Amino acid sequence: MGYIGRFAPSPTGALHAGSLVAALASWLDARAHGGRWLVRIEDIDPPRCTPGAGDFILTQLAACALQPDAPPLWQSQRGALYSQALAQLQAASWAYPCACTRKDIEAAWAAQGLAHQRHIERPYPGTCRQGLHGRSARAWRFRTVEYEQKVAPALTRQAQAAPFFIAEKTLHWHDRRLGAQQQCLAQSVGDFVLQRADGLWAYQLAVVVDDAAQGVTHIVRGADLADNTPRQLLLQHALGAPHPQYLHSPLVLTADGEKLSKQHGAPALDLSDPLAALQQAAQALGLPAAAAAGMKLTDALAYWVAAWGNYLQSAA
Ligand code: GLU
Repeated sequence: MGYIGRFAPSPTGALHAGSLVAALASWLDARAHGGRWLVRIEDIDPPRCTPGAGDFILTQLAACALQPDAPPLWQSQRGALYSQALAQLQAASWAYPCACTRKDIEAAWAAQGLAHQRHIERPYPGTCRQGLHGRSARAWRFRTVEYEQKVAPALTRQAQAAPFFIAEKTLHWHDRRLGAQQQCLAQSVGDFVLQRADGLWAYQLAVVVDDAAQGVTHIVRGADLADNTPRQLLLQHALGAPHPQYLHSPLVLTADGEKLSKQHGAPALDLSDPLAALQQAAQALGLPAAAAAGMKLTDALAYWVAAWGNYLQSAA
């Protein structure tokens, strides 16, 4: 099967210097593999989306000569597919209803002595795993902990071609840039949400369904999403979907070490000089400077496509 890559921004705002790095990395990887590059606008969370941001992102990409090979998909139009996937998981009992409010979950954590710590995720305490006990269902969760236990014996280090394996309750996978990765899902996230109490689809389900539906073979995205990968690998497995390869690109950090993001006041890309913006993104990826004054965008991009193979070797 040929290479299919994608860039999947959430339209919570315009592209900024950090998101352009992820866009450029996924485009370069697709071009360097002679593959196809798709764009998917992940507008499944209307309260977090900015009106017009999806179209504006497409304009920004076009201004940077990063053109998708097919018309972009919009996740807001794909609810029927997510419903089908949830139904498949429900039928196999890998999805269960959950009645917990945020407050219920906080109370259960407090009872378990799990205090809030910055940057530490706490797993869903499992309250509804064995049933709702007369409460009404709000959300749907994936039976992460039991799924891992069930499939662990079949997914072992010995299976050479395995895209991931589970050993000592820890899921191991390979990232093309970061190398060997691992996460204990039961301890960090537990049974995660597939459909939220407000009826909206969770990112984890939508991303897995769409990557499979679009035949994505290689996922290249920002390193802030690396710790979502184990959840997605398990969901792919449970849905019988193929496992793409993963590469998580470097993040652009602010002066105080936070990820550059809209919340941290990252300005939208300056479209008056797309080459300068790309130059900066390429530098963040550790690629050599391409631009001679007046160089055409497409020539600079071709130069970086050629440099990308070396970049991967030095990152490996
Ligand atoms: N929509 C997600 C985001 O912008 C990225 C999804 C992905 O690349 O898997 O954070």
